[in-house]
Amino acid sequence: MIPLLRELFFNLCLLISLHYVLRFTFRSWPIARRGWSHTLRLAAFAAAALILLLFPAHVAPGVVVDLRAVPVAFVTLQFGPLAGLLVALPTMGYRVWLGGIGLYAALPSLLGVILVTSLLRRHLPVMGPLFWRSWPGVIAIFLINGLPLLALPDGLDLFTQAYPLLLVSNVLGALAGWGILSERFHMLRLTSQWRSAALTDPLTTLGNRRQFDQDLDAMGPGDALLLVDIDHFKRVNDTFGHRAGDEVLQEVARLLEREGRGRDRAYRYGGEEFAVILRDVTGDGLSRVAERLRTSVAATPMRATGQHLTVSVGGAAWAPLPTRQLTERADEALYAAKHGGRNQVRVWGIWLPSRAQETGQPPPSPLQG
Ligand code: GH3
Ligand code: MG
Ligand code: MG
Repeated sequence: MIPLLRELFFNLCLLISLHYVLRFTFRSWPIARRGWSHTLRLAAFAAAALILLLFPAHVAPGVVVDLRAVPVAFVTLQFGPLAGLLVALPTMGYRVWLGGIGLYAALPSLLGVILVTSLLRRHLPVMGPLFWRSWPGVIAIFLINGLPLLALPDGLDLFTQAYPLLLVSNVLGALAGWGILSERFHMLRLTSQWRSAALTDPLTTLGNRRQFDQDLDAMGPGDALLLVDIDHFKRVNDTFGHRAGDEVLQEVARLLEREGRGRDRAYRYGGEEFAVILRDVTGDGLSRVAERLRTSVAATPMRATGQHLTVSVGGAAWAPLPTRQLTERADEALYAAKHGGRNQVRVWGIWLPSRAQETGQPPPSPLQG
C-alpha cells in the first residue's frame, strides 16, 4: 500500500508538471482545432500520457496503474472522441508491448474513459476559472478507470488495493492539471477580448484610431487611403440631438463597411471623420471607390433623422513615404473637398470633376502631385 501510494504520488506530481508544459500548446484564442499547431498539441498530450505510463505505480506482477487517462480525457473533452483516441494510441501500443495480465484491464479502462468523457462532454462546462465546480463530472469520468481490474484473476484483491487510490489521484490530477490549463484559457480569452476592445470604436464597432495606425503602417504598393468627413454634422446634433447624431455615425459606419471589398477596411478616425484603407487599387480605382462611397451616403436617407447626409472624401494612393505624410496627403485632399463646396471627392495629385462643378460653381484648383 505505501509503495503504491508513493509511486502514485510521484505520478501525480509528474502529471502536474507536465500540465505546466502542455499549457504552452495553447497560444491564442479562440483555440484552433486544425492545422500544424493543433497536431503538435495532440502529439504533446500523447507524449504526456506515454510519460505517465513510463513511471507507473506497481500493483502486482504485470499490473501497473498511473494517471495516463487524465491527458486523454482532457483531449476527448475539448476536441472529441476521435482526438482522444488518437492521443491514447501510442500509450495503448506501449502498454500492449509491456504485456502482462494487467493489459486486459488497462485497454478497456482507457477506452472506457474516452467513451464516458464523450458522453459527458456536452454536460461539462467549458474550461474557465470556475471549472473546478464541475468536480462531480470529473469524478464520473474516472469512475470507470480501473473497474475492469475486477475481471482479472484475483481481481477483487487488485481492485481493493489499487482502485480507490487510483480514483482519488485521477480526480486530484484532473482538477489540478486542468485547472492549470483553465487558467491559461481564461488568460487567453481575456487578452483577446481586451485586445479587440482596445482596437474597436465602441459606438460604431469599426476599428478605432489605434487599429488604423497599426494598419496604416502595414500598407504597401497598390493600397490607398481615404478620409471621409461628414458634412455639417454639427447641424445634425444641433437639430436632432446628440443621440440621433450617434445613430447617424453608426449608419454611416455600416454604409462604409458595406461598400468596402475584400480586404478593404473602414475605421472611425475620430469624431465624425472616418478612414478607409483600400487594398489592391488599380487604375482609377481609388477615385471610383471614393466616388461610390460618396454617392452611397448621399443616396441613403438616415433612419435616425429621415434626412440625407453628404460626406467629403479625400484620397491618397500609397507612396514610399513616411505613413504620417500619407495621412497628410489624404487630409489635404479632404480639406480641398471641403473648400470646393463639400459633398465631393478629391484625390491627392489628381483633379476630379466635382458636384460643386456640376452645380455650376467654378472648378477648384487641382492639388499639386
Ligand atoms: P464640416 O462640414 O466642416 O465637417 O462641418 P461639421 O459640422 O461636420 O464639422 P465640425 O468639426 O464643426 O463639427 C463636428 C461635430 O461632430 C461636432 C461634434 O460635436 C460632433 N461629434 C464628434 N463626435 C461625435 C460623437 O461621437 N457623437 C455625436 N453625436 N457627435 C459627435
Ligand atoms: Mg464634418
Ligand atoms: Mg471633422
